[in-house]
Amino acid sequence: IGVLGSGDFARSLAIRLVCSGFKVVVGSRNPKRKAGLFPSAAEVTFQADAVKKTDVIFVAVFREHYSTLCDLADVMAGKVLVDVSNNTEINHHKESNAEYLASLFPACTVVKGFNVISAWTLQSGARDGNKQVLICSNNQEAKRTVAEIAQVMGFTPVDMGCISSASEIENIPLRLLPAWKIPIFLGLGLFLCFFTYNLIRQVIHPYIREQKNKLYKIPIEVVNTTLPCVSYVMLSLVYLPGVLAACLQLYYGTKYRRFPDWLDQWLQHRKQIGLLSFFCAALHAVYSLCLPMRRSHRYQLIEMAVKQAAEKKMNIWVEEEVWRMEIYISVGIIALGLLSLLAITSLPSIANSLNWREFSFIQSTLGFIALVISTLHTLTYGWSRAFDENQYKFYLPPTYTLTLLVPCTVILAKVIFNLPCIRQRLLRIRRGWEKGRYVKFVLPSATGEYSSGETSSNV
Ligand code: NAP
Repeated sequence: IGVLGSGDFARSLAIRLVCSGFKVVVGSRNPKRKAGLFPSAAEVTFQADAVKKTDVIFVAVFREHYSTLCDLADVMAGKVLVDVSNNTEINHHKESNAEYLASLFPACTVVKGFNVISAWTLQSGARDGNKQVLICSNNQEAKRTVAEIAQVMGFTPVDMGCISSASEIENIPLRLLPAWKIPIFLGLGLFLCFFTYNLIRQVIHPYIREQKNKLYKIPIEVVNTTLPCVSYVMLSLVYLPGVLAACLQLYYGTKYRRFPDWLDQWLQHRKQIGLLSFFCAALHAVYSLCLPMRRSHRYQLIEMAVKQAAEKKMNIWVEEEVWRMEIYISVGIIALGLLSLLAITSLPSIANSLNWREFSFIQSTLGFIALVISTLHTLTYGWSRAFDENQYKFYLPPTYTLTLLVPCTVILAKVIFNLPCIRQRLLRIRRGWEKGRYVKFVLPSATGEYSSGETSSNV
């Protein structure tokens, strides 16, 4: 195998190829100076010599320097060139680097590949990092050869089709968490809304009404009342699109009608929304555990004890409060446990080890149970506060009442969908039944002849 270039990528590639049992010839402009950087099993020579000695050549050179290789066009003719290059910007050039290389060397066969693998992954081997190597080319034979090399190196080749897919492959390493953009913006938006709402109720209201400085509450208390709101609402947003999809299917009486784009997008982002919900719930748990560590909390406890002593109160045990807190914490822990399970099983390596029934039971049934238990957690937290007028700061209802809105709608809708009459219809639709679709029937007549006709499948 030939490797043109002696930079980071060429070096890592050569090491990996040698380790995988290939004979490697490296082509450099300055082989003497670079030879020491490569394993002794690899031959480091001039570019033209390396090209002559090999049939498959990895071009580990930046696109800007492709034209400097044009002198090698004659010796390169008939060889397979593997373009490993990446760009610095998405859709940087009109034509992909691989297509550009193919236009410079029309007598060669160009295969795009290995660009999604970093020099670090190549060195650390396929045990760590990304294992997939995306490959595309117009020549099936060349593509197969490169795929075999990738396989021997311990990677998983993925056929991406013709060379026209090269731009898409070149853009992949430049994309920053494309599937996470919408869920992260959604999470941040919810966090900002709830944070502002809690800030008004917990800090601004006491300052305006009683001139009390409660700014110290911002870093922990306000954040800790915001996190569960975001987590809970996001968890319900995982199940809301399924409810909307079911409503549309019931309304149209078919599953063969496309959902609107926004709903499609929403359905595709449920995993990320669920993971963010788990992230906020985990942070909420840690924040809650740390609440008693705060100085403010200790001062308040001592203050309360002094007050009680002054008032000569001996028994401050309120049975209802004790029960509320015990149940509230217990269901909170169960909800967090279920969310952890959902998060773990959404990891590809775990999800791949489950069959469809197991996966859908965990993500759908247990996920819905997690939503119900989170609702219990929220209700036991709020208890009767929604009916206490002192809780309506600036006429704003307690935050927990707002968070209940979407989850309760989802739970109610799920209960309605499980009513036998609706469940049956939904199941039929999901099995392919369509409202108003005509089916042919054949009936034997009294004379023994068969008469045919059409009727609506509704009938
Ligand atoms: P690099 O360290 O800068 O190496 C580039 C090499 O190109 C040089 O060592 C040089 O070797 C050779 N070269 C040939 N003609 C040249 C010229 N006219 N001017 C300058 N250099 C010339 O870059 P790299 O990180 O190895 O990346 C090489 C290619 O691999 C790039 O297309 C990059 O997008 C791609 N890639 C890199 C990584 C990575 O993790 N680094 C990952 C995926 C893809 P000689 O001096 O010996 O000729």
